Amino acid sequence: MENEELFFDDNEGTSDAALTHQTLVDTQEKLGTLLDLMPTGLIIHQMQGMLFANQQALYLLDENVTTLVGKHFLDFVSEDQREKCSELFMTTFMRDEPVRFPEIKLEQSAGRTLYIQVTASRLPWEGTSVVQIMLEDVTELRLQADELQKLTFHDVLTGAYNRRYFVQHAEECITHALDEGKPFSLMIFDIDWFKQVNDTYGHLAGDEALKIISKVWRLNTRHNEFDNRKNDGTLSRIGGEEFAIYLPNVDEEGAKAIAERIRRAIEHEVIIFEDNRFSITASFGLTSLQGDDQKLDDLIRRADRALYQAKENGRNRVEFA
Ligand code: GH3
Ligand code: MG
Ligand code: MG
Repeated sequence: MENEELFFDDNEGTSDAALTHQTLVDTQEKLGTLLDLMPTGLIIHQMQGMLFANQQALYLLDENVTTLVGKHFLDFVSEDQREKCSELFMTTFMRDEPVRFPEIKLEQSAGRTLYIQVTASRLPWEGTSVVQIMLEDVTELRLQADELQKLTFHDVLTGAYNRRYFVQHAEECITHALDEGKPFSLMIFDIDWFKQVNDTYGHLAGDEALKIISKVWRLNTRHNEFDNRKNDGTLSRIGGEEFAIYLPNVDEEGAKAIAERIRRAIEHEVIIFEDNRFSITASFGLTSLQGDDQKLDDLIRRADRALYQAKENGRNRVEFA
């Protein structure tokens, strides 16, 4: 505005300046509209809080212009991600390259969950510490990826994990247990006389019996994948009527107790299919990690041997190798 005076006596100059000003205002308005039309959420953010959010950002954050005032982007990040995101947020102010955040989960008031990919970059305006945060809605992709993951690692009939998952994850747990000197146990069980079940009640009744195994496991075990202290293992269907449960942090005694509990529960479960009611039993082979074990195969071999013993010794029982 230093040059404003220059224009006062100059009619042509004044109208030029007015025109320039108007163009600026127009541009700003148009830019606002433009930003609002973008399918990407955009937030202009100072260290302390938000300065601007376009329509898409408001939509994703489930806010409006009024409610957004005074809020900070980190207010929207869940507790478990906040520390990491806070660190990245600070980094953004100090770096010239864009900073990629971990995928963020937003719970909206309508009960919808959105998954957002967040990238933040420092704006190259001299003398200001302002960053722009771009929010990309990746919910659709996340759900598709989850679905694919489910298909890759689950058995469709029983909903239990499949053999591929079992091998991959049990192997990882064993490596971890060996490194940390922690216990690890493996249980393999096989339905008794299952061929007879199929022959007597039909293949579909047999399928129903297989599904019951998942149900029994769910109802009779504590299975919190994220907390090994509350974990009775992970159930996988590793063959036709053969299942495995691997048990991180569970020793021989613990594994025996869990196996007995599942064995009894299977025995007592009544399977109803069409006009038939019947029960099944299963035989269990158990083993625990030993110092000279190196990989999953070592444990599978021992558990299989114990399972064979259980069949030999009359079925519907647990044997430990
Ligand atoms: P054992 O007590 O020695 O284990 O006897 P078994 O009859 O269970 O053993 P066997 O291995 O001879 O029979 C397994 C049967 O499991 C044969 C097969 O038809 C059946 N089976 C495998 N997969 C499925 C399935 O997905 N559905 C049904 N209904 N049956 C299956
Ligand atoms: Mg079998
Ligand atoms: Mg069998």
